[in-house]
Amino acid sequence: MGGARSIGRSSVEIICRNPIILDSGVDVGASSNLLPSEPRSDPEALILTHAHLDHYGASPLILRRWGCDTYVTPPTVDVGEVLLKDFVSLSSEYAERPYSIQDIQLIRRREKSVRLNDYVALDGWELRTFNAGHVLGSIMIHLTAVDGPSILYTGDINTAGTRTLRGAETELPKVDYLIIEGTYGGDDDIHPSRKKVERQFIEDIRNVIASGGVTIIPTFALGRAQEVLLTLISHMESGVLQEVPIFVDGMIREISKYYNAYWSWLRPELQRMIRESKRGLFDHRAIEEVRNREELLEISEPFIIVTTSGMLQGGPVLTYLKHFGTKRGNLIYLTGYQVRGTRGRMLLDGIRQIPMPDGIIEVKSDVKFADFSAHADQPNLINFITKVAGRGLKEVILVHGEPDKLIQLRRKLEARGIRAYIPYEGEVLRIK
Ligand SMILES: [Zn+2]
Ligand SMILES: [Zn+2]
Repeated sequence: MGGARSIGRSSVEIICRNPIILDSGVDVGASSNLLPSEPRSDPEALILTHAHLDHYGASPLILRRWGCDTYVTPPTVDVGEVLLKDFVSLSSEYAERPYSIQDIQLIRRREKSVRLNDYVALDGWELRTFNAGHVLGSIMIHLTAVDGPSILYTGDINTAGTRTLRGAETELPKVDYLIIEGTYGGDDDIHPSRKKVERQFIEDIRNVIASGGVTIIPTFALGRAQEVLLTLISHMESGVLQEVPIFVDGMIREISKYYNAYWSWLRPELQRMIRESKRGLFDHRAIEEVRNREELLEISEPFIIVTTSGMLQGGPVLTYLKHFGTKRGNLIYLTGYQVRGTRGRMLLDGIRQIPMPDGIIEVKSDVKFADFSAHADQPNLINFITKVAGRGLKEVILVHGEPDKLIQLRRKLEARGIRAYIPYEGEVLRIK
């Protein structure tokens, strides 16, 4: 229903006696065509992999219309509520306001909580959940039809561990059909090691601090922001990075609280750290919440701002972009995938005349990109798929990626004797 040969509004419908919808996202880069297409049958259940808007943003609409049971993890519901409220309040930036604040509450009303490695019997299906390693609360969905095939839908996955999470589960039951994302499925998509990324990131920020500049780090509020904050704190504590204020603006603070509340979902090292230190992950004297944006614009000392939104499509980052981005000596540090059509993608592609809600600005600060990706790269996708294929996989279905990247991934898989298919939106695949 969406997210075929593109990124945004991910949604898959499983048409059977008891239809199921997997994810229901919006396209944050779109000025029209914001939502997935309509399901062909009345869904009995909605299963959600994680709270990012491109997988979660349209779920209140499904519930408003069909009121089906919603299988989702507790961190995803809590974090998702923050993201959806923000999305609705920012949607003047978008072409349409798809639903109201009240509609967001429908998720809690229809929620059937699932945990990691959970097992739930649905009508006609067995649902199992596995760690996706992508963001707090993210799961892969494994479905086995009674007397029928099994499907694994990965949502977004990261097989490599990060500062906050363990990598995706690779010890999986038998899978007949694998529906997998290919965000970084292209032949050039090989992530440098996290260590290397962090070294360059910190060095660049050190240089900006030394010359008295401001570093703006636009991030997704969920996942990337916490990775960036932990990276900055740890380099300040080891003395590699000079201690300057790190201002946090947008929903990041609110969502970071859930990283402490759901500490048991984090990697074991962090769990130990939280238990032993008895303080929150982000309680550090350098980190300050922005109370008055205007005051921040007056500060003449160097500092760092970590703020939303990650692709500069809205949120407080626009104020900072306009003020600091238009001056030389400052730095905008992009940290995540930038969807086509977003301001972040324009900056990444070298465009410096940037359209804002109230006119065009010229960006004169430096723009850099750090690959803090929360998605598996091509070699890791191939490793993951090969492992699943070793147990009788019939076909891989590639979604959530730009067409050229998906085609490159398919070529690599077929060279290994693995059947792969790249569907178009609206296409129906018959499986058995
Ligand atoms: Zn995601
Ligand atoms: Zn996604």
